[in-house]
Amino acid sequence: MCRHAAWLGEPRPLSSLIQQPDHGLLKQSYVPRRQRWGTVNADGFGMGWYAHDRVIRYRRSIPMWADANLEGLAASAISGCLIAAVRSATVGMPIEETATAPFMEGKWLFSHNGRVPGEALTGLKAHEAESTCDSAKLAAGVFALGRLGWSLGDAIAEVTTTAGGADAEARVNLLATDGQTIAATTWGDTLFVRSLPEGVLVASEPLDDRDDGWVSVPDRTLVLVTPDGIDWRDL
Ligand code: GLN
Repeated sequence: MCRHAAWLGEPRPLSSLIQQPDHGLLKQSYVPRRQRWGTVNADGFGMGWYAHDRVIRYRRSIPMWADANLEGLAASAISGCLIAAVRSATVGMPIEETATAPFMEGKWLFSHNGRVPGEALTGLKAHEAESTCDSAKLAAGVFALGRLGWSLGDAIAEVTTTAGGADAEARVNLLATDGQTIAATTWGDTLFVRSLPEGVLVASEPLDDRDDGWVSVPDRTLVLVTPDGIDWRDL
């Protein structure tokens, strides 16, 4: 359903995920190419980046194409670690900023692509979520593990397998970062990684067709991107 993307490497503007590529998140907000659930991602968008010793997060509950201020903001938001997402709200979920990724706690930024039935979210600190949206509840679960000292990768792997294992219908594709690492899981939807000399891209679907550098990540995998490279393991 939703589409998300992240970058770790040499400093780049957020427009490198959104407006610049032929099939960046702006294009994916109205004509995604690999989306199996939902057709457009018009129910909000968000982005996060690390600059001036802080985490900066911007999110709206309107379509990405409707924000006239976004182009300048994305072009000037420059960082070595970027994350952005566009949302197609699951039926029954509220359309509001607090239901929109990236969710944030401390240095952690978090996004979810998929759908998790309510019963599969119990026990994940759902009561601490800022919205009744399933993604906000998953974020609360991940952040609670972070407060207990879990690493970013271990925390999203745990929440993915807990929610995914609780209901065969659950789709739990998570993307998170702490500014140093990008962690992502696949559980029911696509994910691609692309390694460049300057860094690594992670995205629900390729941002461009310029070469064959996009590698499809198998389902039920945890991907970890650090300055040392890309690592992944089965969930
Ligand atoms: N279920 C989440 C929501 O409603 C994510 C939806 C999606 O992946 N499109 O926001």
